[in-house]
Amino acid sequence: MTRKSILDRLKILADAAKYDASCASSGTSKRSSKNGKGVGSTEGMGICHAYAPDGRCISLLKVLMTNHCIFDCHYCINRKSSNVERARFTPQEVADLTISFYKRNYIEGLFLSSGIVKSSDHTMEQLVECARILREEHDFRGYIHLKTIPEADPEITHRAGLYADRVSINVELPTVAGLNRLAPDKDAGQIDGAMGRMGGDIVEAKDARKRFRHAPRFAPAGQSTQMIVGADAASDADIVSRASSLYERHALRRVYYSAFSPIPDASAVLPLKRPPLIREHRLYQSDWLMRFYGFSSHEVGAAAGADGMLPLDIDPKLAWALKFREYFPVDVNRASREFLLRVPGLGTRAVAQILSIRRYRLLRLEDIARLTVSAVKVRPFIVTADWRPVLLTDRADLKALVAPPVHNQLELFAS
Ligand code: SF4
Repeated sequence: MTRKSILDRLKILADAAKYDASCASSGTSKRSSKNGKGVGSTEGMGICHAYAPDGRCISLLKVLMTNHCIFDCHYCINRKSSNVERARFTPQEVADLTISFYKRNYIEGLFLSSGIVKSSDHTMEQLVECARILREEHDFRGYIHLKTIPEADPEITHRAGLYADRVSINVELPTVAGLNRLAPDKDAGQIDGAMGRMGGDIVEAKDARKRFRHAPRFAPAGQSTQMIVGADAASDADIVSRASSLYERHALRRVYYSAFSPIPDASAVLPLKRPPLIREHRLYQSDWLMRFYGFSSHEVGAAAGADGMLPLDIDPKLAWALKFREYFPVDVNRASREFLLRVPGLGTRAVAQILSIRRYRLLRLEDIARLTVSAVKVRPFIVTADWRPVLLTDRADLKALVAPPVHNQLELFAS
């Protein structure tokens, strides 16, 4: 059998990686090679961007070490029972590709994941070895995101954190029941344990670096995870609650939500229909509410319907406001930041500007209109020096008055 060329394998393995949403090159520490030492930079200035195959992470080489896998997760195109074309790189080949793409300004870094070959330990060793070659042999200072394997030996996984900017372990599905049904080789306890250890190592390393300047860096961009949405029966309220508990317990930087996308040669246990992609968007908005707007998962869940699903036609913050009208209108000249952040249409920047301006003068409706994209959306929920809504929040048709027009979202992986 003839060995596939690097390019052929790259096509297969970059395409196979597109289903993983958990990559973003934000939040790491600054490193650069401007002083003539090393190669690469984690700062984007002057770097040209190129499109990666999945359209989400445009400046990372996003690739699998291999799409062979000994596991059989039903939702995964690379599962052992899937009939896809297989390919495999060596750590050296991925490192060489990364460096050559980097030097051509095609990418800003590497997102590397893998199917599991031989064993979890062996696969994790391969991922770590690639990162080691990049860091130690090429002095590569660009961004590296390594996917880690929860079943692997903690000592090997720990080494991943010493080379990578970000590490991630996928929880895969929002509920243990869903995981048991759709990923029978995986163990929720092992995933949780691995995330806990990684979170502990990150905190410890941060602490050590505060005390000792030369303490080694350890995953400075933190850890993230991904949940597949719509492959099992979990509701939005279940998903939001799981995400919140992951943020609290493992100090995650990000939870990524990936709308289940039917794969070629799909398993019979998967739903036939994909969830609407707008559902993924609503979950990201909910995530934002919990991380930056002071909402608890319980409050976001309360914005959902009786079936636990968030409305698709309006964002969750507006859904919450429409449901809990007793909190409105909010006086922009008096209310605390916490209450201002609850107003639909007011973002964190607008709220910061309101707090700053009102130290000098009273805000009028036209001032607020300048700070927000949609004055129509904000008006029923606020009081200003010259505006007070009369019974607006009691109106049965309030949703129709403030809801944005519906646009159809384009499919990400549509052919
Ligand atoms: S472990 Fe599961 S999700 Fe990961 S590559 Fe293998 S089959 Fe896919």
